[in-house]
Amino acid sequence: MALLQQITERTFFVPGANNLGIITTNDGGAIAVDTGLDKDTGRLVRKALDEANLTLQAIISTHHHADHVGGNDYLLRNMPDVVVYAPRVEASLIEHPLLEPIYLNMGAQPLAALHNKWLMAKGSPVHHLIDDKQIEVAGVWFDILALPGHSINQIGVAFDGVCFVADGFFGPAILEKHGIPYAHDVHAQLTSFDSILQRGEHCFLPGHGDLLERDSLAHVIAVNRSAVERSSQMVYAALGESGDLFAVARRVQQAMELRLAGIPHFAIFVSAVAAHLTYLEVEGLVHIVFDERGMIWQRAV
Ligand SMILES: [Zn+2]
Repeated sequence: MALLQQITERTFFVPGANNLGIITTNDGGAIAVDTGLDKDTGRLVRKALDEANLTLQAIISTHHHADHVGGNDYLLRNMPDVVVYAPRVEASLIEHPLLEPIYLNMGAQPLAALHNKWLMAKGSPVHHLIDDKQIEVAGVWFDILALPGHSINQIGVAFDGVCFVADGFFGPAILEKHGIPYAHDVHAQLTSFDSILQRGEHCFLPGHGDLLERDSLAHVIAVNRSAVERSSQMVYAALGESGDLFAVARRVQQAMELRLAGIPHFAIFVSAVAAHLTYLEVEGLVHIVFDERGMIWQRAV
């Protein structure tokens, strides 16, 4: 079976743990939307394009997470003419991948365990910042969707009736595996669900999960929305008794019966719990007090 799965005349994807979008240009070229985790996924993109007689011209990186940009380095080293596009802020993190394990370690020098390829990609230059709602890449005009929330300034891209939403939502089977869908900004994550629902494309490709037809979109977004809202409710429920961030995270973990396998998983989980606490604070549902235990979260209502 061909590596490249066709969606519409000009859009394709390489399916996998992370679906990688491919768009053809007018002159035998191709543009990749994300490149996967590492050199193996970079190599897969190259092989898929070779099979189809297409030459990679550009990469659009939707956000900085290592499983979306990890193939950039391999592709740029092997095809030095390829240019990378990414949204502002995300671009800085793509160029300086050490910043991800730093923020997951509360700004401190990261623990050695956080220096792994899932949290720290090789990094790559970003040649063009994406600021606009429409951009031209290698002669192809894309609609750019602002999809912040899961990551700081994540984007999706739309072309030829297909919307590549990156981690703007997850496939339902993926959601079941995660205790809390990773969030940087919960309010923005919920708002981005609405932005996706308003799109008129026929097909929607998440980074993780199955390609969706428009008919299935509302259901899948509803499943995502309830996973995020349930996470907020569980964080609020964990504050029956006040506690610091780690106490809250531990109670949520126990309530969800999650097994956290090691420091990276723990760091991501605590970060997501912190995002929900910030959200609940903005909503006026919780607040912080200082007592002999330190910085303590408690219910405001
Ligand atoms: Zn992500």
